[in-house]
This record gives sequence, C-alpha cells and structure tokens, in this order.
Amino acid sequence: MHTQNSRISGFHKLSMSERLNKVMEVAGLDRSAEAQLSNTGNLEASVVDSMIENAVGTMNIPLGVATNMIVDGEDVLIPMATEESSVVAAVCNAARQCRDSGGFTTSLSGSLMIAQVQLIDVSNPEFARLQILENKERIREICDQTDPVLLKHGGGYRDLEVRVLEGGRNGPMVITHLIVDTRDAMGANAVNSMAEAVAPLIAEWTGGKTYLRILSNLADRRLARARATWSLDAIGGKSVREGILSAFDFADIDPYRAATHNKGVMNGVSSVVLATGNDTRAVEAGAHAYAARSGQYRSLTRWEVDQDGNLTGMIEMPMAVGLIGGATKSHPTARIALEIMNTTTAEKLARVIAAVGLAQNFSALKALATTGIQKGHMALHAKNIAVMAGAKGPEIDTVARELVEGGKVRVDIAEEILLRMRAKGVSS
Ligand code: NAD
Repeated sequence: MHTQNSRISGFHKLSMSERLNKVMEVAGLDRSAEAQLSNTGNLEASVVDSMIENAVGTMNIPLGVATNMIVDGEDVLIPMATEESSVVAAVCNAARQCRDSGGFTTSLSGSLMIAQVQLIDVSNPEFARLQILENKERIREICDQTDPVLLKHGGGYRDLEVRVLEGGRNGPMVITHLIVDTRDAMGANAVNSMAEAVAPLIAEWTGGKTYLRILSNLADRRLARARATWSLDAIGGKSVREGILSAFDFADIDPYRAATHNKGVMNGVSSVVLATGNDTRAVEAGAHAYAARSGQYRSLTRWEVDQDGNLTGMIEMPMAVGLIGGATKSHPTARIALEIMNTTTAEKLARVIAAVGLAQNFSALKALATTGIQKGHMALHAKNIAVMAGAKGPEIDTVARELVEGGKVRVDIAEEILLRMRAKGVSS
C-alpha cells in the first residue's frame, strides 16, 4: 500500500500548480488526476488561490435552475447548486402546484446579527451585567466606529443584551450580545470586529477577563418566513393532504424523523445558499439550533388546513445571507446566480430561500405520503449508478432506463447491462 507523509513544509507558500505536483507525488496520483484537478473550470486559478488556503483545484457541483416559483407576487427563477438528484425537480413541482393559489408570501424579521463577548472571572456577575448595560452608548460608539462603511449603508449597532450563564468551570459567565444591523452583508466579519473592539473595555469596566468574541450563528433576529397554500385539487385530494399532515406530526414529535425532515428543507435552502456564494454551514447551524430552541429538536416547517380544506404550510428559520462579502462577490457564478434570481438585496435573497425550503419540504412530504421517495429519485439515481458502472455518453441514458424498467437499480446489474450492450455494439 502507498504510504503518505502529510508533513509538507512550506506547502502554503507554493504556487497552486506546485502544490498540485506535491500532492500528486505524495498521494501517488497519475496524470489523469492532474488533468482533472488543474482544470478549475469557470473559476480562474488566481481566484481559487485567493479564496482558501492550500488550494490545489476546484470541485464543481451542478447548478440547476428551478422554475415555477412565485414569491410575493413575482416570478423568480431559482439557481440551485447541489450534487443531489431530485432536489431541483422537487422545488419545481411544489411551486407549480401552488401557482394557482398565488405562490409564496414571505417576510423577514430584520437583518440583525448577534456578536457574543464572553466574560469570566467575575465574582459578582449580576453587578457586572449592569456595569456593561450602563455603557450602552459607549458600546454603540465603538461598534459604529469599527465599521463606518456599514454605517453608511444604513447598518450598525442596534442594541445590547447581557446574560449571566451559570455552569462555567470557574463560576458564572457574563455574556454580552451586541446586536448589529448588517444590511446586505451576512455580517460575520463586521460583528466579530465589533466584539473584539468592545471586549477590552468590558474587561476593564468589570475587572473580569474576556475570552471569546465572535458572532452567534443562531441568528434568531434574522428570521426568514414563507407561507403558501396548496389547494386540495392541486395536490390530489384529501388523502394526500392527510398524509402530509401526518408526516409533519411525526417530524414535530420525533427528533429522529425531524432530522430527516429538516435535512429535506436544507436540500433546498443550502443549494441556493451555495449557488449565491453564501456560507452553507452558517445557515445550517442556525437552522438546526433554531429547530431545537424549545429544548426538543423539531420541524422547521408547520402544516395546517385552512377553512376551505386546503393545505397550508409555513417555514420560519434564521437566514444569515448576504450579497456582499465572503464568496458572494468573488465567485463569478455566485454573482450570476443573483442575476438569475433578479435579486439586489440580501432581504429578498433570504425571503426567497425560505420559500425554497418550504417548497422542498412540501415535495418531500407529498412523495413520502404517497408513492414513496424512491420513485422520484430513481430516474436520476439510475443515471448515477450507470456512470458508476462505467457507462459513457449516450450509454448512460440507455443503462439508466433499463435499470428503472427492471426495478433494480444496482451497480452490478448496470455492469451486466453495459457488458451486454457493448457486446451487441449498442451504445444508444
Ligand atoms: P465582509 O466583511 O467581507 O463584508 C461586509 C462588509 O462590507 C461590511 O462590514 C461593510 O463594511 C461592507 N459593506 C459594503 N456595502 C455594504 C452593504 N450594502 N451592506 C452591508 N455591508 C456593506 O463580509 P461579512 O458578511 O462580514 O462576512 C461573511 C463571511 O464571513 C462569510 O464568508 C463567512 O463564511 C465568514 N465567516 C463566518 C463565520 C461564522 O458563520 N461563524 C465566522 C467567521 C467568518
């Protein structure tokens, strides 16, 4: 077996192609791997190298566009970056089925982010809490001086909260929350800088010691909301509706189910977050923490019946996304994704993403409550299996079709079909 030495001194100082050569040598890769990795596709190598450390190439993910969405009375095309089949189709289907009832209506609670400053080693934490609160105006000044550009764009410091948390190893901790309007930015760097600027003063005022100074990804002052109605006719009648409601009950009661239910929501949410160059992990962490806010992990969506018997759905979740900062501006595809959505504000982006999350959940619940999830997945899954078996070009569709028709989508069967096809000289 090939043994590797992962200690490569000065690796970060090398150029991207030198790094790639080094990796090829250490990992024992062949020339085809080099060709694959050195093709950075539609992202210039210099951009790749400026985005992350130790870059050696790119990992392309398909970008699809979901159709049929109406959000707040406007038609919107949805760019979705995902490696998973069925995700884009699910949004198209859900959106088509609620077009007659007006599509999705959305709102945003605000664009407020929270930065936390941790203070320890205070023997009188309640007293310290008031000392910090008394300095609200000074804190406002420091925060706003830290980011004058944000201020110019209508953002900046908004509020202060101080909490005493019991249970630290050296006694209670005093946690200051700086609440900052970050406007069109996700705001991580903006609020982290503010927390770092304020922390020494908090230590000075209270006589304690400040440690962590960083944003909270539980962005519960930046909640995106979406609701929609699906008529009984559009969804195929009462039994489908009852199935969807019962699936929701299951998720809301049982964390084992809720994890999968919310994963489905995030199939939609994360795809748009990624396509627009936003931070998928930030939104995912916020979503799951919010889903567990009652102490039990529950559904991010809620499903009910209106007075006419139609199915109504809603979603509410933290949505820390921006149009400025991170990869949103540096990745050319992310910029085009925003153009596809015709979106020029972070608020609209957040609201549309919430609608996509709800649409995704509708389709998953409907499929689960009726035909089962595998039927919809099979056509594209079969193509993946065909590729795994070695099918190329037109062979992929033919092998996939035979797999689906045969009812067994397995790689060994795909290999048999491929062998048979090639023996007969059939490739399409
Ligand atoms: P940023 O600092 O690059 O850009 C935001 C700045 O742009 C603002 O502070 C402001 O000065 C300026 N700006 C210009 N026009 C603006 C407008 N219209 N509205 C608002 N600000 C405007 O980016 P950011 O949003 O602070 O940080 C996002 C990045 O931080 C992401 O890449 C994320 O991955 C990363 N990050 C995330 C975490 C986390 O989630 N825990 C932690 C650290 C970093």
